[in-house]
Amino acid sequence: MCHPDDQTPVVDDTPGEHAIGRDTRSTGQRNHDALNAVVRAILASGQLGQHNGLPATIIVSTTLADLQAGSGQALTAGGSLLPMSDVIRLARHAHHYLAIFDKGRPIALYHTKRLASPGQRIVLYAKDRGCSFPGCDVPGYFCEVHHVTDFATCRTSNVDDLTFGCGQHHPLVKPGGWKTRTLATGDTEWIPPPHLDHGQPRTNSFHHPEKLLRGDEDDP
Ligand SMILES: [Zn+2]
Repeated sequence: MCHPDDQTPVVDDTPGEHAIGRDTRSTGQRNHDALNAVVRAILASGQLGQHNGLPATIIVSTTLADLQAGSGQALTAGGSLLPMSDVIRLARHAHHYLAIFDKGRPIALYHTKRLASPGQRIVLYAKDRGCSFPGCDVPGYFCEVHHVTDFATCRTSNVDDLTFGCGQHHPLVKPGGWKTRTLATGDTEWIPPPHLDHGQPRTNSFHHPEKLLRGDEDDP
């Protein structure tokens, strides 16, 4: 059963003589393939529920160039690097979303609801990757969406005005506490209250180590 080489593997009945005769898999391999079929069926069912408004699934970000070349790596919203070959293999069975950026700046996805839309959360997985508080290492899966400009003031949930904050740092933004603003680079600046300001970094490079690399002079 569940022979991955079969075009239509038997999953809920006894395989015929022909299928049994050419099945040379070990017991361990057959158990593995059966478990794989079970998990895949559950994933495809659409009954797995949601996590922060999105289907419980792996979310990765990558570039169109790497995707077209079939090489390089993608970054999951949990902070892991995935080889492109794995991304393409997983994508065969995935629910597909597409978020598009122009030179790192997210495009569109504006709306006027209080809660960030699933699409905006996907954009934040790619843009912020994790909590934007300086030095924080909490990945995107475990973050809340923070309105950089207080929603009560701006009345919109423009993705340019949203950022990720973890459960520990998001509540620091309050009257008399920390303030946030979006810099021209798209990064979120966290401004400490005067009594906590000792000249510390105000943006978080933890989830964007590539920004610390000095540009190669040969780069176009
Ligand atoms: Zn944090």
